[in-house]
Amino acid sequence: MSDRKIRLTCPDCGQTNQFPADKAAGNPKCGVCGQGLNSGKVAALDLKTLEKAAKTDDLPLLVDFWAPWCGPCRAMAPEFERAARNLAPQVRLAKIDTQSHPDAAIRYTIRGIPAFILFHKGRELARFSGARPAAELERMVREKLALV
Ligand code: ZN
Repeated sequence: MSDRKIRLTCPDCGQTNQFPADKAAGNPKCGVCGQGLNSGKVAALDLKTLEKAAKTDDLPLLVDFWAPWCGPCRAMAPEFERAARNLAPQVRLAKIDTQSHPDAAIRYTIRGIPAFILFHKGRELARFSGARPAAELERMVREKLALV
């Protein structure tokens, strides 16, 4: 157990960081840019970083596909931030702006926003759509991950 390694992609610079599993909960810093890797804050991703994190990260990643023109997305933002604090350090939350990164909506076949995809162990574990309170989103994520 003690020599188990965790891989986390830095949301800022895209570097894959690897460290002992017991450090993951302590917001370890990116070896390249110094960004906290598990801060409980919602990180903004681009498509390249999202694809890398979805494929390689050892912690579950919940991604909010949103856009500035979308009212429900903006209303959901503080709820998503609250969920990020509450689900840390077991789950990382990130968002991608599908207006700036329309290729992300195509890549993940997003038909309506807000949409949330939960990635774990290199695959899509679940998908939720529509704005909802933080508590409800947290409950859905915990159920899917069996973190009860
Ligand atoms: Zn970094």
